[in-house]
Amino acid sequence: MASKGNIGVTTENIFPVIKQFLYSDHEIFLRELVANAVDATQKLKTLASNGEFKGELGGLDVTIELDEKAKTLKVKDKGIGMTEEEVDKYINQIAFSSAGEFLEKYKDQAGNIIGHFGLGFYSSFMVSSKVTIETLSWKEGAKAVKWTCDGSPAYEMEECPKEDRGTTVTLYLDDDSAEFASKTKIRQLLDKYCKFMPVPVIFGKKQEWKDGKYVDTDEDEIINTVEPLWKKAPSDLKEEDYMKFYSDIYPGKEPPMFYIHLNVDYPFHLTGILYFPKIKERMAIERNNIQLYCDQMFVTDHVDNIVPDFLTLLHGVIDSPDIPLNVSRSYLQSDRNVKMISSYITKKVADRLDEIFSSSRKEYEDKWDNIKLFIEYGMLADEKFGERGLKFALVKNTDAKYFSLDEYQKAIETEQKDKDKKTVWLYASDVDAQYSYIEAAKNKGWDVLLLDCEVDSHFVNFLEQKLKDVRFARVDSDATENLIPKEDKLHLEMSVEDRRDLGTLFKSVLPTENEYYVEGDNLGEDAAPVLITQSEFMRRYRDMSMLGGGMNFYAEMPKSYEIKVNMQNPLIRKIWEAQKKQVAPQGKLPEDAPKDATEEEKKKAQEARQAVIEAHDEEVRGFGKANEILRQVADLALLSNGLLKGKALGDFIARSTKVAEDAFLK
Ligand code: ADP
Repeated sequence: MASKGNIGVTTENIFPVIKQFLYSDHEIFLRELVANAVDATQKLKTLASNGEFKGELGGLDVTIELDEKAKTLKVKDKGIGMTEEEVDKYINQIAFSSAGEFLEKYKDQAGNIIGHFGLGFYSSFMVSSKVTIETLSWKEGAKAVKWTCDGSPAYEMEECPKEDRGTTVTLYLDDDSAEFASKTKIRQLLDKYCKFMPVPVIFGKKQEWKDGKYVDTDEDEIINTVEPLWKKAPSDLKEEDYMKFYSDIYPGKEPPMFYIHLNVDYPFHLTGILYFPKIKERMAIERNNIQLYCDQMFVTDHVDNIVPDFLTLLHGVIDSPDIPLNVSRSYLQSDRNVKMISSYITKKVADRLDEIFSSSRKEYEDKWDNIKLFIEYGMLADEKFGERGLKFALVKNTDAKYFSLDEYQKAIETEQKDKDKKTVWLYASDVDAQYSYIEAAKNKGWDVLLLDCEVDSHFVNFLEQKLKDVRFARVDSDATENLIPKEDKLHLEMSVEDRRDLGTLFKSVLPTENEYYVEGDNLGEDAAPVLITQSEFMRRYRDMSMLGGGMNFYAEMPKSYEIKVNMQNPLIRKIWEAQKKQVAPQGKLPEDAPKDATEEEKKKAQEARQAVIEAHDEEVRGFGKANEILRQVADLALLSNGLLKGKALGDFIARSTKVAEDAFLK
């Protein structure tokens, strides 16, 4: 009883549209067909277990057969099959009309479609010029039917001689899809999409090495693992199992730091295993490493709208039938389940870190350097995680000792409280470059943290907001004594002229490419003559804007340094006195032009004043440039900050040698 008809789609040319529309994602047809076959098999199992199906189940597997020459691909299952009425209902009416609706809805917004919606059976037409379904229902007395459709909305249905229960879908691959008529290609797609499907999927035979080549054996090659690790009970699993699973899904990757087994049934279904990879540098981070499954069927490895951004740094799998797949990205973000899933995962990650922090502190410390970037980034990015992290985030000091934030505050609060009752957390970002500053701080009995990670400048800001009465200061941001001011210091009294002279004097011997703010200060007789610092604020914002943060204004500023001249240091005193002796104080400035003077007269008077100032500055500069001690003092300060380079460095060495020779020969 053959029948013909038109599929319930109104648009005559829907097939070409589909083909073009889904161009980039043609390969998903295989997943869809195997998923249907798996579904039909699972349904039969359910019928058998509740007693409705009483027949022989037999081996329930799904077989893929490829004829490379004939360019046909078969997907065979031994599932529930379909009666003629069911083919009509599910294939002719439902499958096609829902695809039609779908297209109608998204016609104008191809960009909005995520690559992984399920078009189901329909997607087979993306790669085929003809598709047949031969199917025999499990129902008693059912007759096998064959459905044929050549890609136009017209189909044919007739009885067929199929004797075994289940469905065989045959694709006649079209010329544009020749790439799929390749065993290697099909194997690759099965590995990608079907590796963990819950029913054995057979593709070809197992091979063995015989007489110098691989030959087929009699045994079927099953390409999947029907019960993946994430579906098993955590209590049945050992650490090795998790590690092995990781190397199975990420061959060649370094072992992960920790894992988290996710398992929730209510109010949504989610299972999975997440891993913390080693993360050392931001640049080396790979995203898109979490694989999303829907009931063991691979969907995508782009989970960016499903898990919070910072969690995309994790690896592993999540499996949930509750994530809507055939919707646009913007919809996904506002979906209730997706929101719940996202916060559930965040909470689980925090729970796990908390647990390891509390129960395996040593292990946690050992791994801290490799997960620190992730945790700090997460704390900055996600408010809840940020709150939780305050408990398990660690800081490491320059002696490689680790503390929780609480512990650290307790350890330093007596010694490192400033006059405003704020505890000052001192830190260095580079132990070599800031060596002398670190030593100076330690000599005062203070502790210095090492914050050398890329997000640390942001993290420091974050902690200052979260921790009560805590301030951060990098060790080179001020003279050591000023890092933690204990009492209000009497500010050094210097006249405006003297301050300008001091600036002119030092600028005469400093390299010209940077900006300097020269300032006199009383730092004690024994302290260094000159200190070069970068203001904490300016430096931090500069670093942050380098990382990108919208404050590019700061990134573009020239590097500016604060030059602190210790007026109590004997060398400086000597230079200063010599300068006073040699350079006469600046004389009185010529009078300003009277108010009613002409423009010309005003300009002249202004120039005359300027000339006096300039002449004086020139004298100071002349003194500075000729003063070897001054130059040596400045160079030494530059040198200890890595700022002395090129010719200036060469000159410094020559000068130092000469000083040494003079001393030796005397
Ligand atoms: P979906 O799987 O999303 O429902 P499909 O277009 O893939 O949409 O399939 C439509 C319907 O056709 C399925 O719901 C199922 O009832 C039926 N079907 C498809 N493939 C098979 C199969 N291999 N065995 C039994 N029924 C099938």
